[in-house]
Amino acid sequence: MRQPLVAGNWKLNGSLASTKELLAGIKSGLAEVVNAEVVVCPPYVFIPEVQAQLAGSSIAWGGQNLSAEAGGAFTGEISASMLLDFGCKYVLVGHSERRMLYGEDNALVAKKFVVAKKSGLIPILCVGETLEERQQGITEDVVAAQLAAVIDQGGIAALDGAVIAYEPVWAIGTGMTASPEQAQTVHAYIRSQLAQHDGAVASGMRILYGGSMKPENAVELLTQSDIDGGLIGGAALKAEGFLSICKAAN
Ligand code: PEP
Repeated sequence: MRQPLVAGNWKLNGSLASTKELLAGIKSGLAEVVNAEVVVCPPYVFIPEVQAQLAGSSIAWGGQNLSAEAGGAFTGEISASMLLDFGCKYVLVGHSERRMLYGEDNALVAKKFVVAKKSGLIPILCVGETLEERQQGITEDVVAAQLAAVIDQGGIAALDGAVIAYEPVWAIGTGMTASPEQAQTVHAYIRSQLAQHDGAVASGMRILYGGSMKPENAVELLTQSDIDGGLIGGAALKAEGFLSICKAAN
């Protein structure tokens, strides 16, 4: 049985004041969410505040990115051990904005994934195709290559206990959600790719859907057999909307 997981990716949003307000709102509505795991991924500088407010609660937190390096002359970077120092349990790896805006290729994403896993963080590996790639009919090839890069570097064992988020790039922040059938097809494909290496890793893998998930479409997405939760961007910035997705996953 895979425990549903809902993760909020706050991206480059918020202030200290709005972070406090958002956390208070999420905490106040969480009593009804007993089966789903809830995670928030704030901007780095707000992680200490998140830790202070969420320590002892059922909500976990994580980074939106990490360096592939352990330390040294890498201005602006944050390492896995720094995230662990502030209680992070999860870290997003290979979000499409990192891939597209900051040039992170499959090899770098795989390196970050392996570093995160070895450090004791749970990486959430983001995969997904652009609109052009979908129109060319190569969605599965793109996703397979993104997965293969991680398996090549870390072996299938690196994926054991990790999380995958299928996020079609054309659905992120656009309001154009994948249909439940489109999403389920790719989720099942991801699981089948993992099963070629290790059946237990495949059946235990939590595969989240991300891309304009909101309260209005969460139930029909989350009831697909291979969709185990959501990675939420815009709708995670308001406690009420985020909580109703958490309740749908519950
Ligand atoms: C995301 O960036 O991971 C995401 C899913 O964003 P949104 O929900 O805003 O599409």
